[in-house]
Amino acid sequence: MRIVMKFGGTSVGSVTALQKVVEIIQRYRAEGHEVLTVVSAMNGVTNLLLDSANKAEQGDEDTAHQARQTIAEKHASATLELLGDGPVRDDVLAQVNALLDEFEALCHGIRVLGELTPRALDVIGGLGERMSVLQVAAILNHHDTPAKDVVATKLIVTDRRFGSAVPLIEETATQSQAVLQPILETGQVPVITGFIGATQEGIQTTLGRSGSDYSATIIGRAINADEVLIWTDVSGVMTTDPRIVPEAHPISHLSYSEIGELSFFGAKVLHSQAIRPARREKIPVRILNTFEPNHPGTLITEKASNNGRAVKAITAIKDMSLITVQGPGMVGIPGIAGRVFTTVGQSQASVLMISQASSEQSICFVVPKTQTPHVIEALEKELSREVERRDLEKMQSYGDVVVLAVVGSHMQGTPGVSGSLFGALGQGKINVIAIAQGSSECNISLVIRQSDADRAVKLLHKEFGLDKPE
Ligand code: ADP
Ligand code: ASP
Ligand code: MG
Repeated sequence: MRIVMKFGGTSVGSVTALQKVVEIIQRYRAEGHEVLTVVSAMNGVTNLLLDSANKAEQGDEDTAHQARQTIAEKHASATLELLGDGPVRDDVLAQVNALLDEFEALCHGIRVLGELTPRALDVIGGLGERMSVLQVAAILNHHDTPAKDVVATKLIVTDRRFGSAVPLIEETATQSQAVLQPILETGQVPVITGFIGATQEGIQTTLGRSGSDYSATIIGRAINADEVLIWTDVSGVMTTDPRIVPEAHPISHLSYSEIGELSFFGAKVLHSQAIRPARREKIPVRILNTFEPNHPGTLITEKASNNGRAVKAITAIKDMSLITVQGPGMVGIPGIAGRVFTTVGQSQASVLMISQASSEQSICFVVPKTQTPHVIEALEKELSREVERRDLEKMQSYGDVVVLAVVGSHMQGTPGVSGSLFGALGQGKINVIAIAQGSSECNISLVIRQSDADRAVKLLHKEFGLDKPE
């Protein structure tokens, strides 16, 4: 089989992890599979890079200088154990240092200009992956597994949305095949940078935070992979965020729709868009644990399986705000919903949830908190006449809310789920601000206060019996 394997930040972030990565790749190759890998930056590196760029804009270059030392040290110590103190390691570290020189020069430019553009931020943010592929490819070669580092700017062609670029399918397929096929034919393992791509003009972009998952499925689709494996630090997708609820358990099987809802509503284990390329070509995706490679993890396919549970998982996405458009004249204004959402779309905000009361007196929707001022301003401009005439009230936003999503395909046709859901929240005295049920019917989403979020997740996790293993 042709398998794309993605290794996340923790999986390439330490000597122990990198040793596991080598073992995993060697095992799959020994079983006769053709392996391609996509790797993230070493754990924590992307945060250091982005933080330094932001500080440089405010006039601080020391942060960048310190980050450089920390990142150089991380690579130096990982390679010392795995490559030995010799010319192979010297070569990797020299290339890592050249990238770190570029990083410091960019931060210097940003400080001098006092301006950080999204385009510059993508160049800086992607440096961690570029260092990581050099290291991983050298380690594989050193352990008798021929490998070749590849920068994905040559593979993934995207639009110009810096910071959350969208891949162009046809162009990506052509380029990926042209670059990767010859490497595969010589029996080498391509070690590809996650997270980054480039526009048609060759300007580097990024696919959004946690974007290496997306890189893996984009490449999987582009080169007709038989499977995509996402190797991470937990044994699959769990019933909820294990950092909030330690009793969370891995889920053995999910459908594309179910994982789509979970990742869209904040389950950090997979990038929100990552399932889409796999779903299009029906490529099975597995979420597996680098540190427990024999655990079956989670298999994701088209069909939803019935594990006897109506609700399979719960997730919460934080730092949102709820915007309400309402007024006595709502019913009489033609195309109001269209105008509201066109305006929101034009302000580049992404809407996570929409709810409309049947009286048509109000529409409310959820956007990330950071985008709220922008959206309100655009709506006030668009609807100024209606507000003046008092057909509409002034736009209101309700900050510090979360969208809680309760997900499972078999909720459809299982009576009583909503009853238990609202009953449990009521008993916990958690106020529900808005509700929506996705048309896929495998998701009920609720807006609640951020201060209630963790308690609500714990409560519902127990209510739906998710604290017991499958
Ligand atoms: P990687 O670096 O491998 O991409 P991430 O940190 O991005 O790993 O994602 C894995 C982490 O996601 C886990 O360690 C876990 O803390 C968190 N997480 C949040 N929600 C879930 C969930 N429902 N299932 C599994 N992990 C989750
Ligand atoms: N290194 C990037 C990030 O931290 C991409 C990834 O890890 O998937 O967001
Ligand atoms: Mg991730």
